Amino acid sequence: MFTGHGVGTRFGPTWFQLAYTARWYRGAKTSDRDILPLQADRIQPMTANYIALAIPAFFVLILVEWIVARRMDLAVYRLNDAVTDLACGMGQQAVAIFGKLVILGAYASLYANATLVVFEAGSWWPWVIAFFGVDLMYYWWHRASHEVAFLWAIHAVHHQSEDYNLAVALRQAWFSGLSSLPFYLPLALLGVPLHVFATVAAFSTLYQFWIHTETIGRLGPIEWVLNTASHHRVHHGRNPRYLDRNYAATLIIWDRLFGSFQIEDERPLYGVIKPYRSWNPVWANFDVWLELWKKARRTPRWLDRLRLWFASPGWTPPGVAAPAVHNVESEPRIRYRTETPLPVGLYVLTQFPIATLALVVLMVHSGTIGPAWSLIVAVLIVMAGVVWGGLFEAKRWAVPLEIARLAVVAAIAAYLASTGSIPWQIAAAVGIAGAGFAVAALRLNAVRRPDS
Ligand SMILES: [Zn+2]
Ligand SMILES: [Zn+2]
Repeated sequence: MFTGHGVGTRFGPTWFQLAYTARWYRGAKTSDRDILPLQADRIQPMTANYIALAIPAFFVLILVEWIVARRMDLAVYRLNDAVTDLACGMGQQAVAIFGKLVILGAYASLYANATLVVFEAGSWWPWVIAFFGVDLMYYWWHRASHEVAFLWAIHAVHHQSEDYNLAVALRQAWFSGLSSLPFYLPLALLGVPLHVFATVAAFSTLYQFWIHTETIGRLGPIEWVLNTASHHRVHHGRNPRYLDRNYAATLIIWDRLFGSFQIEDERPLYGVIKPYRSWNPVWANFDVWLELWKKARRTPRWLDRLRLWFASPGWTPPGVAAPAVHNVESEPRIRYRTETPLPVGLYVLTQFPIATLALVVLMVHSGTIGPAWSLIVAVLIVMAGVVWGGLFEAKRWAVPLEIARLAVVAAIAAYLASTGSIPWQIAAAVGIAGAGFAVAALRLNAVRRPDS
């Protein structure tokens, strides 16, 4: 698709290669086949495909979990919370289209120029080193993400949901990829080529999907070695005894080894200490940054103002009033909730598969459609998530923003038809569907909640 004029530009020869100048390559230590896929249009599908391929399975399993939970009399899903989780994940994948170029570029450059070991083609060693290395480095990145304030500002997104279900697994933070890069770079020095690292890292992410559920109980001896749903429920708990515990990705042995292990011995209460009371999937990534900024401004000593970003997230600098400590045991917190009128729910549920499809197309084809078009599609997907959150919160700007978004989609379809990139029938269908959605969105104004 998108093969007409002006659309077929590739990432490669332009800004991507700034990351690796050809000159640096000439002095490269290895002529490994990893050098070849360094063009972005090859790198991107290579790593995006595992996650993109898994998306249908995610939705099937979410449906299965929803049914099983209902049979167990567990109310684990709320539409607005789950949609916000998924919108966070969609935004993260859209941002990752660009972030990955930097991350994988840095990794591959380091491997090509500075690796200490070059294994023979077909050797199993890189896979073994990658499996344990990615898992160990994930542990330390994750631990730092909870114990260092600015890293927590990035990671907090994953913990904001006050529910616990498979959708929470997909509630990923925009900048996690960047913050974890320095932790993974040593693997390039240890002789793990890019394709091995990217594959193992993708499967580590996929493994962590199933552990986000309340429907799976304790699992006996498996819990000695593997991270399980029970172990990870502890990680998401804000009960005092559960804070900063169980950082593992796949192997729980790291927590047992480094003293951060906690067994699930009381019912976890989910969410972050300072609740995120919004369904906005974009602001979720900046909420804690703003809090830190405000705290820094109230801090009298300038050295403390700097220290604040690297200290524990709970640190209160001298001269700043300590926040009231919320006691989760004595005062149960009411979860953030809003009522979703049926038309709003139906509207979001109709838009959702379309946005998901657009994301999958973007993940698979970003290398072919070029950075400019990738950016436009990414912004439209992220905007969809913002609109859904706005509709759930009955914000006044939600419907106008949605109308503007639909108008841009229709204009793009008309432009692509005029250049011959897509058949006019498709453009006409997009225009008619867009008009239909616009009418439906305008009617949502009438169902605005009385308490908004
Ligand atoms: Zn965490
Ligand atoms: Zn989690």
